[in-house]
Amino acid sequence: MTKKSAGDLAPSTLAAQALGWTDEVTGAVTPSISVSTTFTRNSDYSARENGTYLRDHGPTQKHAESLICELEGGQDAFSFGSGLAACTAAFHALEKGDHVAVSAVIYHGVLSWLAHFAEQRGIHYTLFDPGSLDSLADVLEATPTRLVWLETPANPTWAVTDIRAACDLSHKYGALVAVDSTVATPVLTRPIEFGADLVCHAATKYLNGHSDVLGGLLVTADSSSPLWERIRLHRLYAGPMLGSLDAYLLVRGMRTLYLRVKKQSENALQIARFLEQHPGVERVHYPGLESDPGHEVARRQMQDGFGGMLSILIPGGREEAIAVVKRAAVFKMATSLGGVESLIEHRKTSETDVTNTPQNLLRISVGIEFVDDLIDDLNQMLRF
Ligand SMILES: *Cc1c(COP(=O)(O)O)cnc(C)c1O
Repeated sequence: MTKKSAGDLAPSTLAAQALGWTDEVTGAVTPSISVSTTFTRNSDYSARENGTYLRDHGPTQKHAESLICELEGGQDAFSFGSGLAACTAAFHALEKGDHVAVSAVIYHGVLSWLAHFAEQRGIHYTLFDPGSLDSLADVLEATPTRLVWLETPANPTWAVTDIRAACDLSHKYGALVAVDSTVATPVLTRPIEFGADLVCHAATKYLNGHSDVLGGLLVTADSSSPLWERIRLHRLYAGPMLGSLDAYLLVRGMRTLYLRVKKQSENALQIARFLEQHPGVERVHYPGLESDPGHEVARRQMQDGFGGMLSILIPGGREEAIAVVKRAAVFKMATSLGGVESLIEHRKTSETDVTNTPQNLLRISVGIEFVDDLIDDLNQMLRF
């Protein structure tokens, strides 16, 4: 048998082996952590290939970046100290007068950044409806647009946007498309294959998967684009870096990404089906359900499952929803998502008033536990 090169290997193999890393000196199969902030020059005073300073280039950060770049099928990737640092790097790279079309249903922190900072910096934005390409077309028709920002499935209703259709449309109007793919992960969707120019991840969530790292990643389909160059400069001179120890943990987490996301998707689908017929639930938002408005598109652009995130509407309002969540025993009553442990929260409490999230919505992040334990817990939480 001939030895397979990285290009021949499945993404799950590349992830499991952290791109096949072994230490040339010791043979170690576990990637090492490089914590040095500075790197000596060669004897002729040239810089080593690695660079000279950690803000410019870190070996452990580079390992995480190379892995996500490979998994997403991109040309280059940068890591950041949080998911929001990665998302907002794209906005920092815009120029005064630029217009952004932004999906109205996205992670609340991105909307909050735009609400606080965009207009003061001369960046204009218009919201569009994530489920309607007509709504995006109206925005693109009305205003010349530099960038379209969308998330799919999107917090916290898991609204699905047809990435290929959105990219075809946006490109026709000369706009680039950035997709926050935190919830889908490259296991389920690879936005660059559908035409996306930029992919964003809160690595804090599924990529790391163990609720112990705050981090973000951006992947570009075109490393020679002017926007990517400005993102590089923003990162270099504003310095929102991922720490070396966190980069190590992130690589470690990504090695089990494929197993975790598949299990989480299986558990979530079973839970969604259980909740859909439960009398204590008014509505379930989950793109894996045939009844979900995003199901058809999700089936086309998601493979191996529909993800581990779902939301439910409780009959009543804030009080009734919080009463349910307070009975959580196996589920942890906490925000965030994508960890191996299941979480449930009253979403509006975590968000600012920039969102329209209903007061009776509970957001559920499904972990890798034995699914019956999770279903039993939800069943006792939902007693009336
Ligand atoms: C959590 C999250 C972010 C922000 O990531 P942080 O690491 O918390 O800054 C961005 N987008 C999505 C979809 C998220 O879930």
